Amino acid sequence: NGDYVSLVRNITEALRYQAELIEAQERAEAAARAKSAFLANMSHEIRTPMNGVVGMADLLSETDLDREQAMFTDTIRSSGQALVTIINDILDFSKMDAGRMELHPEPFDLEKTIHEVLTLLAPSARAKGIELILDYDMFLTRDLVADPGRLRQVLTNLVGNAVKFTDSGYVLVRAVGVGVSGDGHVVHLTVEDTGIGIAPENQERVFGEFRQVEEAANRRFEGTGLGLAITQRIIALMGGKIWLESELGVGSCFGVSLALPGAERMVPQPALPKA
Ligand code: ADP
Repeated sequence: NGDYVSLVRNITEALRYQAELIEAQERAEAAARAKSAFLANMSHEIRTPMNGVVGMADLLSETDLDREQAMFTDTIRSSGQALVTIINDILDFSKMDAGRMELHPEPFDLEKTIHEVLTLLAPSARAKGIELILDYDMFLTRDLVADPGRLRQVLTNLVGNAVKFTDSGYVLVRAVGVGVSGDGHVVHLTVEDTGIGIAPENQERVFGEFRQVEEAANRRFEGTGLGLAITQRIIALMGGKIWLESELGVGSCFGVSLALPGAERMVPQPALPKA
């Protein structure tokens, strides 16, 4: 009889414990939702007036200004633009966190997308004396399906980081078709640099949100630490993988592998036998 009483007590205790766990989990989920909603609202509220600031600075820079005025206007424009980029990152991140990021896949030209990204980043690479090299697999078809905007964002982040964390040498972007898998044709994109590199103990960390290798106090590079967290989530949404190989003081190589529907390797056609 005593056994029976203690059994019932144990079961009651276990049930209460479980109820408490569920309640704690629900509270944590509600807090996470509130955080996402707060970040999304804040970002939106800041972005709208910032777009006004950047837009007006743009218009102002087209008017007749003296050298000093032009310099001030340019600072307003570029600082505003930097803030808009940060806000967009936070907005993207909170969207993904809340599972509200949607992809809009469509046929696009991968080579053109990579070219656009390289053109955008060429001035900062040139300013540092870094060579930007593209190695595009000639057998990779132009007929790929993905969300081009999001893919451009991934590439801009990876190549932008490579340029940012490299002082001399090169940044090599490579796109290769490596075969067929269930959903489509597998494409490997790699961004290799001869930059500062990442120590083994930090290689997992860099994909975390708000994470940077250097501590805030001795930071040499600007950034929110959201770029790679966003990049990793976009690639995951696309059903792909991202990886990193790096050696401190030698350089890094970030790689992305994606199975893109609609991708077809254009095998060179053998010349038709003459009739
Ligand atoms: P951010 O660039 O805004 O700091 P990211 O999420 O893009 O944020 O990168 C996180 C951190 O990973 C960077 O601050 C840097 O310490 C490290 N990192 C990213 N890319 C490279 C690279 N190519 N070479 C060296 N370190 C890198």
